[in-house]
Amino acid sequence: MPNKKRWSDKELNEFKKVLDGKKDKALQEMGLSKNLADDILKNNSVNSIYSSHIADAASDQEQLEKAYYWVARDNKHLQYLLRAMEMIEQKTFGVCLSCEQLIEKERLMEVPHTTKCFSCKSSI
Ligand SMILES: [Zn+2]
Repeated sequence: MPNKKRWSDKELNEFKKVLDGKKDKALQEMGLSKNLADDILKNNSVNSIYSSHIADAASDQEQLEKAYYWVARDNKHLQYLLRAMEMIEQKTFGVCLSCEQLIEKERLMEVPHTTKCFSCKSSI
């Protein structure tokens, strides 16, 4: 196959712009989640000295676990976006790994890191 399918540079640039926006948002969200975790940690250490309420301590712990979960989730999301941007650089972005056809644009805008087109994904 001499000419593999790929998106044009112009379209790849368009995708890149969308991804840049998503990346900024992801970084922001991760920052918020981290701040939340830090706040809970700070409050937690103060509370544990003065408070003997086991119920409160438990809910702090739950809050903290939730915040860490958010940080991990946001970080994962960010890694996906970075991987998608790498694929843009290599011009392999948006091509289905199974059938080597271009992946639907709407799908790429929604899930930029996807490596399978809709029909391949649903045929699993
Ligand atoms: Zn496919």
